[in-house]
Amino acid sequence: MTSVQTAPKLLPTYARLDVTFTDGSGSWLVDRDGRRYLDLLAGIAVVGLGHCHPAPLAAAHAQLERLWHTSNLYSTEPMQELAQKLSDRFGGASAFFCNSGAEAVEAALKWARKATGRSEVVALDGSFHGRTLGALSVTGQPSKRAPFEPLVPHARFATPDTLAAHVGPATAAILLEPVQGEGGVHPLSSEVLEHARALADEHGALLVLDEVQTGVGRSGAFFAWQRLGVKPDAVTLAKGLANGLPIGALLVADDAPTGFEPGDHASTFGGNPVACAAACAVLETIDETLLAHVRALAERFAQALPVRGLGLLLALDTREPAAEVVTAALENGLAIGSAGPHTIRLTPPLTLSLDDADLAISLLREVCPEARAA
Ligand SMILES: *Cc1c(COP(=O)(O)O)cnc(C)c1O
Repeated sequence: MTSVQTAPKLLPTYARLDVTFTDGSGSWLVDRDGRRYLDLLAGIAVVGLGHCHPAPLAAAHAQLERLWHTSNLYSTEPMQELAQKLSDRFGGASAFFCNSGAEAVEAALKWARKATGRSEVVALDGSFHGRTLGALSVTGQPSKRAPFEPLVPHARFATPDTLAAHVGPATAAILLEPVQGEGGVHPLSSEVLEHARALADEHGALLVLDEVQTGVGRSGAFFAWQRLGVKPDAVTLAKGLANGLPIGALLVADDAPTGFEPGDHASTFGGNPVACAAACAVLETIDETLLAHVRALAERFAQALPVRGLGLLLALDTREPAAEVVTAALENGLAIGSAGPHTIRLTPPLTLSLDDADLAISLLREVCPEARAA
């Protein structure tokens, strides 16, 4: 197996591994030669309930038979139902639906400007908020931004220790990931989040949490902010929301400014009935029992492996290049991800069984010396 596949007729934005998957069921993937792989990547924290989970499958299937698309000139039931369910989970919020994480961040940036009449956004070094120009502008990784400058102005990058020096009367929003995902899996402490909340309140800025990766149960609570105990003014969601169908959402708290008026923002496909029906089924499936299972699994991984993270967003540093470990793991029947040149990332389905977790740990130990030293 080579590490990079040349894919004719696809622009070379990805270094794809040389495997073609054809089927998936629960925590398992099957390639076109019929080989099975235990999936601890879950499509990068997307397939939270596991592949082809019966609940979103049935909901999407039923919706496909009824209505696919109407545009946002009209209302559809799945969109209304999903907005209500998300509001209930948040404790009162209104939703804007789009199709991806970057789009959810774009919506958040526009909303924060409109709601405050200010333009500055304070984000953290090492953060990741997406690849569109606006989201990239607030991504704290210079190497990702540099080739595409000039970007959207008025982004400021802080560390948890220097936040206070960057937030002021020009700040529209402080934008934070509860756990930096792409940037290496670095959890934010409750203290830092409380500090950011206090700074936002002091200066009339908005606190926006990018929960595109941490949201929808992955942290062991529906929103990671619920585990950290700090309520934001707005949250972005995407990855796990519809278990693999494209969807993104901006949720704005009921006690935050509405900001948007008709005509301010739009998305042709946003609120797609099939994606929203699947997402409703995802929300119905993520109950207290499943969230407790997520926390138990996290505990199991933490006991067996020297991982850091929160819930089922976990990472482990490796001496070997992460890409080599990822390739070796795949050859050994285990799909994992990376989050930096020497960091592997585990984002398994929330429904992973404890037995499959143990199997994954032993498969990983066979290819990764760091995984042997708990
Ligand atoms: C993945 C991710 C994004 C971007 O989502 P896309 O759907 O790839 O646009 C934004 N923010 C965070 C925190 C993410 O993990």
